Order: sequence, then structure tokens, then C-alpha cells
Amino acid sequence: TQAYLSAIEAAGDLNAYVLTTPDKALEMAKASDARYTAGEAGPLEGIPLGIKDMFATEGVRTTACSNILKNFVPPYESTVTSRLWKDGAVLLGKLNQDEFAMGSSTESSAFGAAVNPWRRRGSSQKLVPGGSSGGSAAAVAAHICAGAAGTDTGGSIRQPAAFTGTVGIKPTYGRCSRWGVVAYASSLDQAGPIARSVNDAALLLRSMAGHDPKDSTSVDLAVPDYEAAVGASVKGKRIGIPREYRVEGMSPEIAALWDRGADMLRDAGAEVVDISLPHTKYALPAYYIVALAEASSNLARYDGVRYGERVAGRDIVDMYEKTRAAGFGDEVRRRIMVGTYVLSAGYYDAYYLKAQKVRTLIKRDFETVFAEGIDAVLAPATPSPAFGIGEKSGADPVEMYLQDVFTVTLNMAGLPGIAVPAGLSSDGLPLGLQLIGRPFGEEGLFALGQ
Ligand code: GLN
Repeated sequence: TQAYLSAIEAAGDLNAYVLTTPDKALEMAKASDARYTAGEAGPLEGIPLGIKDMFATEGVRTTACSNILKNFVPPYESTVTSRLWKDGAVLLGKLNQDEFAMGSSTESSAFGAAVNPWRRRGSSQKLVPGGSSGGSAAAVAAHICAGAAGTDTGGSIRQPAAFTGTVGIKPTYGRCSRWGVVAYASSLDQAGPIARSVNDAALLLRSMAGHDPKDSTSVDLAVPDYEAAVGASVKGKRIGIPREYRVEGMSPEIAALWDRGADMLRDAGAEVVDISLPHTKYALPAYYIVALAEASSNLARYDGVRYGERVAGRDIVDMYEKTRAAGFGDEVRRRIMVGTYVLSAGYYDAYYLKAQKVRTLIKRDFETVFAEGIDAVLAPATPSPAFGIGEKSGADPVEMYLQDVFTVTLNMAGLPGIAVPAGLSSDGLPLGLQLIGRPFGEEGLFALGQ
């Protein structure tokens, strides 16, 4: 823990942490030592972790990287993090992210952008670590935590993992409790680990997952020993290559990576077949309706009364308006406006209801291929390697939304997905592939990912 705390200080220019908790960390590490000596070590005993700032941590400032929560200290602990501490892990601090997890680059953070520790060969240009769990991914890649907890609503674990050469898994919706996780889009949000290896990700998810009566969407299913699945044979597994993911303008480098991934699975004894997921092209627009609708509703709670910051006003309405205008950043405000619009009486049927129907069709696409014997779907994780800070955060927000073209489909369907490092770009940046599994098929993903 001491070594990690020193390393965090030395890597301050990455802006990966928005808060470190050295005293608490050393106190937790001492307690770990005592349990270890007494022969009572838990599965994560003494392992120092960083936690995305979406997770409520008791007595430790939790902001979701928004100014509206900049001084919020929760009086309770999220279920996922309390499970990590119960298994012996140590809290190093809270990790940078896009404001309320809305973004794909960590540039919308109220604490400024996090920086990817990777550089293009021969270049010193600073690159984004992806988002929204960009601080988590940067910290894992830079070895300033042993692993991290992130959240994934539309790719926020998998895309940053792909951009930093790390492993990230978004489990099946319902696998991890959302209790104490700041809500972005409640029907899509899931917690999951970012780690340096498939094995580490398996270890962390085993601790994070499990039923929680405090989250009515958490599923009452035993959590398997995920670590045992790492290295299991994938002989005879049927892997689908969805033709609709070969999107127009796909870079030759990503296409080649994808082929190489298929070859690797074939060499390991899997059978690779072409499949069709016909509604894929509607996933991104439908996601940006459903997610923003839910976000606009979830963010209504930041009213200057119940949580966080308050800016005084003439009367209560004026106070609401001033508080929210001062507290929310540009991207969050844009999303509240779009979300409110698609839920409004005149447009609800045309947008929100239509998007929910599309969501069902996307889910059925996957159900059909799984019923036909497909065990997992292989696809790229991102359309490109990490891009430069400022490159996609200009006037057109759709530039950034297009980052999520391969990752949002499975959140819409509630399915698990793992991103694993699978190669390097021509200029030396990590590239990731993604495997999408059946509901609660995380074990299969760990075997295939390894
Ligand atoms: N980039 C996507 C969005 O902004 C996904 C974010 C996430 O998974 N939290 O909505």
C-alpha cells in the first residue's frame, strides 16, 4: 500500500485520482496485516484498489466528478465496495471519470481530463484514457492501483480498458448491486472491474458480484468461482462474428485485429462462424434516447436541497435553477435537455417508446443466435485506438457518441461483455477486442478472454 501511495504521487500528471485516502489506506492495510498473521486472510487481503468516483464511499468524498457533488461525503458505503473491503481489499482513493459517467474520454470531468499513460510511437501528444471510467483504466495501466472498480452504462469499462491495454468486464445486468452507485441510466448501469489480467478481473468480480436485497434488480444467483474458469478449455465453443459490426469506414487495422482474434480462438479449438444481428445499426441512436431519458429523470434529485451544492435564489424555483446551472457541466446539461425532450408528452411515443421497442429487437437478435448454439460473440471494442485530448471534444457531440458503436448493444440487451488487449496499432497503441456472452455467462467470457 505504501508503494502504491508513493507511485500515485509520482504519477500526478495522469490526473487519474481525484482524491487519495492515504491515512485510511494505511489503516486498512494494517488491519489486513493483522488478519493475514492471524490466518484469516480474505481473497483480496491487502490488495490496494482504486474506486471510480461513482461509488459511494462512507466518510470519503464522492462527487461523480460533478461540481454539484463537489463536497458530498456519503454517510454510507455502496454494496459493491463494501464487498471488496469485506474480502480484504484496501482503498487507495477515488478515480477520475466523465461527469456522472457521461462521456467516452474523461474530458467532461469537473476535475479536468485524465491522461492515458500510453503515447503514440515517436509522439509526446497526450491521449485520452477513454471514458467514462478513464481514471480507473489509466490508474490500472500505470500500476498506481492493483485493480479498479468501474461502471459501464454503454461501454465505460470496456472502451477505457481497450484504450489502455487493460482488461475490463461489464457483467450481466443484475450481477452486481447498484446500491450506492450514483445513478446515470438505471436500466443500463452495471459495476465491474478493470484489471491488468483476465485472472485479476475474475478475482475482483467474484468479490463485487452477488445478490443484494437493497437493489431490486440484483439477481439472486450464486456467484461462481470465476478464477477457476480462467484457462478452462474453449474447445468446441461456437463464436459468432456478427456481420453488421463490420461498419462502414471500419479502419483496416481494426478489421485485421478482429480477424486475428478469430484466428486465435480457432487455434484454441473454438469454432468461428458468421452470424447476423440485424438491428445493430439502431443500437447507438436508441441507446442515446433511453440513456438520456433515464439520466434526465435520475438527475432531477440534484435540486440543492437533498444533496450537494446549493446556490441561493430569490425563491425556491430560482434556487433550483441557479444551483443546477452552476452545478452541471455542458455535456450533462445537453443530456438533461435531450432526455427531457424525448420524455415530453408530444414526443414520448415517437422517441422514447420507439427506442424501447428497438431495445427489445436488439435483445431478440442476441437471443436468436444464442438459441442457435452460439456461445459468445466476438467484435472489436472500439472503432479506433486512443485519440488525443481535445480531438473529439469539439462542437459536435456525435463525434464522441460514435465511440460507443460496438459497446452499447450489450447494455441494451443486459448481456455481459469483456474487453481484452489483443494487439497494437501501427503507431504502438493498445487495441482491444470484445467478447459478448449469454446472460450470466461470465465464466465463459473469462475462459475465452484468457
Ligand atoms: N459513452 C457512453 C455515454 O456517454 C457510455 C458511458 C458509460 O458507459 N457510462 O453514455
